[in-house]
Amino acid sequence: MQALKTITRARMIRPFAIPAPDEPAFLEQVMMFFNDASKGLKIGADTLELIKTPKTTIKFSIPLRRDNGSLECLTAYRCQHSYHRMPCKGGIRYAMDVDLNEVEALAALMTYKTACCDVPFGGAKGGIKIDVKKYSEAEIERVTRRYTIELAKKGFIGPSVDVPAPDMGTSGKHMAWMKDTFQVLYGDKEINSAGCVTGKPLSQGGIDGRPEATGLGVFYTTRHLLNSTKYCEAFGLEKGLNNKTAIIQGFGNVGSWAAKFFYDAGTTILGVTEWNSAVYNKNGLNIPELLAYWGKNKTFKGYENAEVILENPMCLLTRECDILVPSAIEKSINKGNAKDLKCKIISEGANGPTTFDAQKIIDEKNILVIPDMLCNAGGVIVSYFEWLKNIEHVRLGRLIKGWEAKKYKEIIAVTGAKVKNADQFKGPTEKDIVYTALEEVICSAADDVFNYAINNKTTTRKAAYCVTINKIAQVYKDAGITI
Ligand code: NAD
Repeated sequence: MQALKTITRARMIRPFAIPAPDEPAFLEQVMMFFNDASKGLKIGADTLELIKTPKTTIKFSIPLRRDNGSLECLTAYRCQHSYHRMPCKGGIRYAMDVDLNEVEALAALMTYKTACCDVPFGGAKGGIKIDVKKYSEAEIERVTRRYTIELAKKGFIGPSVDVPAPDMGTSGKHMAWMKDTFQVLYGDKEINSAGCVTGKPLSQGGIDGRPEATGLGVFYTTRHLLNSTKYCEAFGLEKGLNNKTAIIQGFGNVGSWAAKFFYDAGTTILGVTEWNSAVYNKNGLNIPELLAYWGKNKTFKGYENAEVILENPMCLLTRECDILVPSAIEKSINKGNAKDLKCKIISEGANGPTTFDAQKIIDEKNILVIPDMLCNAGGVIVSYFEWLKNIEHVRLGRLIKGWEAKKYKEIIAVTGAKVKNADQFKGPTEKDIVYTALEEVICSAADDVFNYAINNKTTTRKAAYCVTINKIAQVYKDAGITI
């Protein structure tokens, strides 16, 4: 790859700042989308109010003994948005932006996401207002364990009540600490205790395929759209994925995996933007090489095989591409930049990356959105598989693996089919099952949303909300409001 111009400037943008001028807060944004979509539905205003109102939110403080002996108090939250299905489910975010409004908005989106994809959970979300970069690993472990104890004391964690997972700033490591803490407290009484969190490392009862699940879901839904003649004709898109270009915002869990899957499928990744820097190459970035560079340096500064942008890396969002994948934080696409977008599809890897006002501009520009509640549901779908694995106490496919291999070989012997390495087939691995099941679940949900949009001549955003609200309303209709 040719070395391109490097723009270097000493001044950096404020970390994690998203300019969203004069636009309502995140929870209000989610409410506006909900209200707008539900207008045309045959559901009473009282039921709609019941569906959208967050049910319980707790705010508490966590004392932390720092490594230097001083004491600090951190603010923590957990919101259980809906009990229409149990347990509640949603990630834990460690960031300075975490507050009540954000946690309730993200919890609401979790309710809609699980309903949209037929995952039988209510929505939840939690977090701690903390700048993780300023704390040692030992300090973060102490905070995480104390957070878990506080949740447990308040009845806000457990395999049948509320099941956290990773989100921004947390990963499998944090989930392992949470699971261990919960088991110290309740392991002897709760046989399903490993199911108190998902996104755990494999050795802690995790599932193969969970780390990449959200990025893979972003890829699957986009590929499903672009492989379908029907959808491409209906939405005015050119069919195919390997003839497309993409720009990715956020190179963390969701963005990096999405980038890898698109890259492997032949999509040209023109640009990647992070909070402190961005890279662009009109001929396409080498994603494995870029991942290694980012992993080592945590900045793109000094990367040689692309144009490096250090001032206002957000400007990459408005460069021309087919697929824009916002996978960082909310409100990235807002009134300030929506009119300048030059993409054809937005695959929302992040939660709430598009504001209500930006959506109106996007609709006028005829940009097709795969909405967050569908596009990034891969994580919670595979979390559901992990939770099933934990309460069933068996690895996915373990009991039928040998039988599958035997039958496969018998069918090949009887039919005489020429299949390469057929004698070496040992049955599906857990990852095979997870990938196949994820694709089936998320693409079925995508069909519901895309077909609703086509049949009702509406946007995919409204379609996702309508499909979802109808499903939740049906649960309340059948069960009453006592749940
Ligand atoms: P992460 O912390 O692993 O990665 C987020 C990345 O975005 C970080 O590398 C961060 O530096 C970067 N970032 C922050 N501000 C930015 C900015 N202004 N411009 C560009 N990059 C910026 O978090 P994640 O788990 O990948 O989550 C990203 C988004 O996806 C969040 O909205 C989260 O709620 C959503 N999400 C995550 C999952 C999951 O399974 N992890 C599932 C569903 C949705």
